[in-house]
Amino acid sequence: MPADAYEPVIGLEVHCQLRTRTKLFCPCPVVFGAPANTAVCPVCLGYPGVLPVLNREAVSLALRVALATGCTVRERSVFERKNYFYPDLPKGYQISQYQRPLAVGGAVPLVRADGALRPVRLERIHLEEDAGKSMHEVPWDDVPTGSSLVDLNRAGTPLIEIVTEPDLASPEEAYDYLVRLRRLVRWVEASDGNMEEGSLRCDANVSVRPRGTAALGTKVEVKNLNSFAHVRKALEHEIARQSDLLARGGTVVQETRLFETGSGTTRPMRSKEEAMDYRYFPDPDLGVLVVDDAWRDSVAASLPELPDARASRLAASLGLPAADAQLVCLSRPLADWYEAAVAAHPSNPKGLANWLLSELLARIPDADRQAGRIPLAPERLAGLVARIDDGTISGKIAKELLGAMIESGKGADELIAERGLVQLSDEGLLREAVSSVVARSPEQVATYRGGKTATIGWFVGQVLKATGGKANPALVNRLLREVLDA
Ligand code: ADP
Ligand code: ZN
Ligand code: MG
Repeated sequence: MPADAYEPVIGLEVHCQLRTRTKLFCPCPVVFGAPANTAVCPVCLGYPGVLPVLNREAVSLALRVALATGCTVRERSVFERKNYFYPDLPKGYQISQYQRPLAVGGAVPLVRADGALRPVRLERIHLEEDAGKSMHEVPWDDVPTGSSLVDLNRAGTPLIEIVTEPDLASPEEAYDYLVRLRRLVRWVEASDGNMEEGSLRCDANVSVRPRGTAALGTKVEVKNLNSFAHVRKALEHEIARQSDLLARGGTVVQETRLFETGSGTTRPMRSKEEAMDYRYFPDPDLGVLVVDDAWRDSVAASLPELPDARASRLAASLGLPAADAQLVCLSRPLADWYEAAVAAHPSNPKGLANWLLSELLARIPDADRQAGRIPLAPERLAGLVARIDDGTISGKIAKELLGAMIESGKGADELIAERGLVQLSDEGLLREAVSSVVARSPEQVATYRGGKTATIGWFVGQVLKATGGKANPALVNRLLREVLDA
């Protein structure tokens, strides 16, 4: 079979750092960028004879994500030791959940092109602790070349691992899933979701199979994916590699591969370890984790309206197109900003969404959009759109004003007064301007009356020019037609 006769199957495993003050099993602070090995204690350093104590807040945050994705929360879940040796793992094992994870099932919906939601099913969400960080290329003179150092500040940081079913059908979908998962964990304030700081990390599992068949092919797990774009790129490469291999009569080896940023390719890291290699067993120092109905219900009650529900509500109650409603719900602060603008000018929610999405967001970097850091108060945009809606200024003038409003911090009314921008809507005055343009343009009038009515635009332009851009274009249009069609 040719290489393009294969289709990809993808499942993602995302590690997400929970937004707690302290670590999962000790009171050390969770810090980013602190001097190495300054946020550590005997528990997270794995000294003998110490006991872990579970951080209740971490469980609550994990529950927020589990409930927001519609998972079934297990009343009883179990922490197990995952044993392996690595220098950044001082205890020689990682405390994780294996046989009995905190939550199972659930889904993260993707939005299809037609606006309908398509669920990506989750297999499980479990709690675990992070490892430390090895530093292999150390720039300091007093460290012999070739040595590696270990920073254990991160060891013991609370994580959840969110594992999908093999439900993703393309690198694009994998990318979308990550964007929507990040929005969700931020939305419920469980994580800050920054991939740059490592609070979201993704391993991608991918196999290919003959298009249209049901059985799964042999999968490869790709690691070292430092951005959503890398996930997409690594998957594209891996799908092409596996399809070519099969097309040439080869077989895919089940293994873990590393993504290499420079070349955009993957290379083998290790052959697949089996679960038994880790010798999982329940951690005898930690009891069963019991999440009773009261705990679960109180977390559920504290969740905000979720993003897709909010987008549907905005679409239904304000008449926004579904796609615009999703864009407005890019983040909770952004949706709050938008709803504050609507509250200040309730008669035109669509206009406000258009101005927010196409004019305001275009001016600011993505990080600010995500964080809802809009350089204008929502009431200010409401004030501007109100002046367009009541005919005081044209949309064109409003665009110019928007920049000035951001720079000066002044409101639309103040700037309109300052700059004498009030739109000319005096019918008598405009009628004069229209007559004089028509009188001095006999050729164009003949063209228009000859049937090329699209030349009306030229006339509008002339009248606007004659009035310093202030004429109300809708009114000019009407007056021109009255004269020309007479
Ligand atoms: P492992 O035993 O390697 O941990 P799992 O069955 O637990 O494998 O699955 C890990 C991830 O890989 C999940 O996200 C799952 O959806 C995905 N996955 C499993 N099998 C395949 C496959 N054949 N092709 C693509 N992804 C797969
Ligand atoms: Zn500690
Ligand atoms: Mg597994």
